[in-house]
Amino acid sequence: MGEKYYKYVIVGGGVAAGYAAREFANLGLQPGELAIISKEAVAPYERPALSKAYLFPEGAARLPGFHVCVGSGGERLLPEWYTKKGIDLILGTEVVKADVASKTLTTAYGAVYKYGTTLVATGSTFIKLSDFGVPDADAHGIYYLREIKEADALVQAIKTKKDAVAVVVGGGYIGLELAAVLVLNKLKVTMVYPGPWCMPRLFTTHIASFYEGYYKAKGVTIVKGTVASGFETDQHGHVKLVKLKDGRELPADIVVVGVGARPVLAPFKGQLAEEKGGFKTNVPDVYAVGDVATFPLKLYSDTRRVEHVDHSRKSAIHAVQAIKAAEAGNSIPEYDYLPYFYSRSFDLSWQFYGDNVGEDVVFGRDNTTTQPKFGAYWIKDGKIVGAFLEGGTPEENKALAKLAKEQPTAPSKETLLAEGLNFALMT
Ligand code: FAD
Ligand code: NDP
Repeated sequence: MGEKYYKYVIVGGGVAAGYAAREFANLGLQPGELAIISKEAVAPYERPALSKAYLFPEGAARLPGFHVCVGSGGERLLPEWYTKKGIDLILGTEVVKADVASKTLTTAYGAVYKYGTTLVATGSTFIKLSDFGVPDADAHGIYYLREIKEADALVQAIKTKKDAVAVVVGGGYIGLELAAVLVLNKLKVTMVYPGPWCMPRLFTTHIASFYEGYYKAKGVTIVKGTVASGFETDQHGHVKLVKLKDGRELPADIVVVGVGARPVLAPFKGQLAEEKGGFKTNVPDVYAVGDVATFPLKLYSDTRRVEHVDHSRKSAIHAVQAIKAAEAGNSIPEYDYLPYFYSRSFDLSWQFYGDNVGEDVVFGRDNTTTQPKFGAYWIKDGKIVGAFLEGGTPEENKALAKLAKEQPTAPSKETLLAEGLNFALMT
């Protein structure tokens, strides 16, 4: 098999790849200059849909509806768009070897591609319970979710197991979003997670207690402070019971696991500097973007890795702008990212901007309303550094972002509590 050369190769075909391709096209791309090599069989799409509208019982999202860049209100890049731009989409193809010295990529099929510049956009993969040594964690009926093929398997299971009993292992993003869509699909859901409350890395105990109360009211049973330690299967190898470390046992027809993700380093491992689990590229003509990148977070004079879609889009765009500027002998201002996370489930929708460090002040919590609106500020060194809001309007969320970016001096806790959201709106 011969070698093929591209000026630019993006390794990985997820969110970052799609936004990078659009930016290359915007800034000037000749046909045949760019290839995307992706393990997935479909053109880049907005991954967040997989744990939300893709699993709805009615009116479910399906491709081509959510190809990038619709998630940020942009043009939908259908496969034809890539053809029209002369971009080669090499799909269903894993890069198994990368050699940054010779600028060579080798695929699982043995094809060899040479590049001028490469973007490492391999994203993350799910952590499996078997990684923690949990036995029988690969039994039929146990599902993980990262790519469309896993979402399709879950859709099939939900369809064939009507009125089934589901156990969701994990109380993070996947756990909370999946528990909600499983309830919408009329499954009886129990969530299990080790912490004293859900989403402990972001939520305070006050924030979490609202969501836990809401989920319970929707019929979700919550089991905290323990983990899945094993499974029992039927004679066909299908899961029927989740065994918990505290000795309890939960019957289950379907198990969905969301116990975290890890960046996919494999083809470049050992060739790029690693920090905080990701690549901090130190090799000319190699740019890491999205989940796999560890980058300087200027706002906090820190180095971080972020596993969220907003960063994957923005870091990809930034990398392409840097590449094109360098070609013209110019440079661009350094990446100045404001962390932004969000989630949606049932009728709920929250957004968070900034850093959740220091002391927190939760305002406006009211469990009696059906249209909840409450939030939180985080104060560090006398400044507001993070802001959270459930049920915000676009204008309110924009005010939160501005606050987290500008980091104004915090008034007293009493004033913040009294002013609540108004503090963000008036600053
Ligand atoms: P990915 O989008 O994961 O893309 C990586 C791509 O690389 C994949 O196509 C993969 O197959 C491919 N690949 C990997 N290794 C190779 C290889 N060796 N060769 C070829 N191809 C390879 N974030 C939010 O902020 N809000 C949300 O609501 C939200 N919802 C989410 C829901 C789900 C179900 C998941 C899994 C994630 C969600 N996220 C959300 C996180 C967000 O989707 C990711 O941060 C984002 O997709 C990262 O983009 P990426 O391009 O770095 O990686
Ligand atoms: P998270 O890291 O968000 O959550 C993992 C959860 O699993 C935590 O509650 C953790 O508890 C718990 N956990 C850890 N070990 C065990 C165990 N042995 N048994 C039971 N629970 C355990 O990861 P997810 O899997 O939810 O998400 C995977 C990826 O997808 C992440 O990159 C995430 O950002 C992304 N995603 C983002 C979404 C969004 O931004 N809206 C939506 C969906 C996915 P503890 O923290 O106490 O250790």
